Amino acid sequence: MINKVRVRFAPSPTGPLHIGGVRTALYNYLFAKKHNGTFILRIEDTDQKRYVEGAEAYIIEALNWLNIPFDEGPGLSEKQNLYGPYRQSERKDIYLKHINTLLERGHAYYAFDTAEQLDMHRKSHEEKGKTFIYNWHNRLKLENSLSLDADIVKKRIDNGDPYVIRFKSPESEQLELHDIIRGTMHIDTSVLDDKVLFKSDGMPTYHLANIVDDHLMEISHVIRGEEWLPSLALHVLLYKAFGWEVPQFAHLPLILKPTGKGKLSKRDGDKMGFPVFPITWNSNGESATGYREEGYFSEAVVNMLALLGWNEGKGSEKEIYSLPELIRAFSLENVSKSGAKFNPDKTKWFNHQYLQKIDNKELAKLLYLHISLMKTNPTTHQALSSKGLHLDDLMYMEKVVELIKERANFVKDFLSLGSFFFIAPDTYNEKTAAKVWKEDTTELMKNLMAVIEKITPFDAKHIETEIKKWIVAKELSFGKIMQPLRLSLVGAMEGPHVFDIISLLGKTESIERIKKACTRLGNS
Ligand code: GLU
Repeated sequence: MINKVRVRFAPSPTGPLHIGGVRTALYNYLFAKKHNGTFILRIEDTDQKRYVEGAEAYIIEALNWLNIPFDEGPGLSEKQNLYGPYRQSERKDIYLKHINTLLERGHAYYAFDTAEQLDMHRKSHEEKGKTFIYNWHNRLKLENSLSLDADIVKKRIDNGDPYVIRFKSPESEQLELHDIIRGTMHIDTSVLDDKVLFKSDGMPTYHLANIVDDHLMEISHVIRGEEWLPSLALHVLLYKAFGWEVPQFAHLPLILKPTGKGKLSKRDGDKMGFPVFPITWNSNGESATGYREEGYFSEAVVNMLALLGWNEGKGSEKEIYSLPELIRAFSLENVSKSGAKFNPDKTKWFNHQYLQKIDNKELAKLLYLHISLMKTNPTTHQALSSKGLHLDDLMYMEKVVELIKERANFVKDFLSLGSFFFIAPDTYNEKTAAKVWKEDTTELMKNLMAVIEKITPFDAKHIETEIKKWIVAKELSFGKIMQPLRLSLVGAMEGPHVFDIISLLGKTESIERIKKACTRLGNS
């Protein structure tokens, strides 16, 4: 039985949130909600050099778009801010107090070695085929408060000499580490280095701030990416040094490139043409497209990410999960240990599945919105705004949706797969025209127009019956009529049933298109 679950997503605001980070946030959210717990957003902005303006706002917008909002975090009301502030840059005093505790208890020490000196040590070790590690093995030979006299140390600090404060790692202790996903691991502390916890600029490093905050914010479970597994030993030692209870840990597997070789990176997305960010990022001339802007439904992205490294187990083949279903089914025990291969096609498949579930009326509204947004961009869609048909007609759009839906992955596909419903073809696929527009086609099309003219009521069923009747009576082959007819209406051999197209376009527009094709393609 788990008591009071409090989990946190703790990104550093160094740029846009990669989908690996989004998945970490999602797993934290699912775990919290499953156990009626609290999902916290903490901004780990102690590294001012890597701070990027706008990154925090981006992270919050992304979580809200995905519908996985946090219960505590920056910017919320005071009632939700019991454990705040939630930005580490606003918690400096807290870290100062805690580093002093470690110093007093002998778990940390001042070190004055300059970057040049450390470099020298590194090089001289390398020359001997060794690796330099700042720890029990050599710390007494280096420039720190363990090796220097107390009054010299004091003088150097008072003098304003730059220093760092390092953790005094135990010389030889067998540590047992537990991870919900990976099980129990053992490590000998003799291989650990004395990590820097605090710098003379008054800022803690990630390790100190992270542990202090997880403790003060009463985090019960630390769910984070696998890249933090090497820090686990230090973190457990820090909890022990403070005399605090250690939270439970779960390190999530990496998200791998589609080839399975190496970690998924932004460059893979650029190369293969899929987003690796939830929403578009624009900053200082750097821009990257997001799932939202590419037309993905947030539910589909959440569903896809949830299954990237987790499955319900028990041989379940279920793939489509709503958010409440995910909350019910999720467990950390069923997160896999090995990396999860990212599959861009599967991501589209998820979107396709969600699109099929949306009611046609709703899709028509989304299509209308999509077209309205495009109309504001005259350079790319001049044709659409000047010659477009039915661009304000929601009923018409609903019918387009009905005819194209099965083949669409995105709302924008209604426009690309069904462009001929909105714009009459201006060109005809040359190869097809050469093949299907024969010597006698123009004459036959003229006769066909007369047949179409007389059809009433003008619905797909009647249109089909009448045209087929005429073809049979004329002893023609179906292809001889249907192919040039489709070419006239669509401009290519594409689209749904011809009779559905004619019925939706209406009598006047259909006849006009056939006429135009006769003029353009006819040789008379
Ligand atoms: N700030 C760290 C990151 O950016 C957080 C790691 C953790 O969750 O402990 O990933």
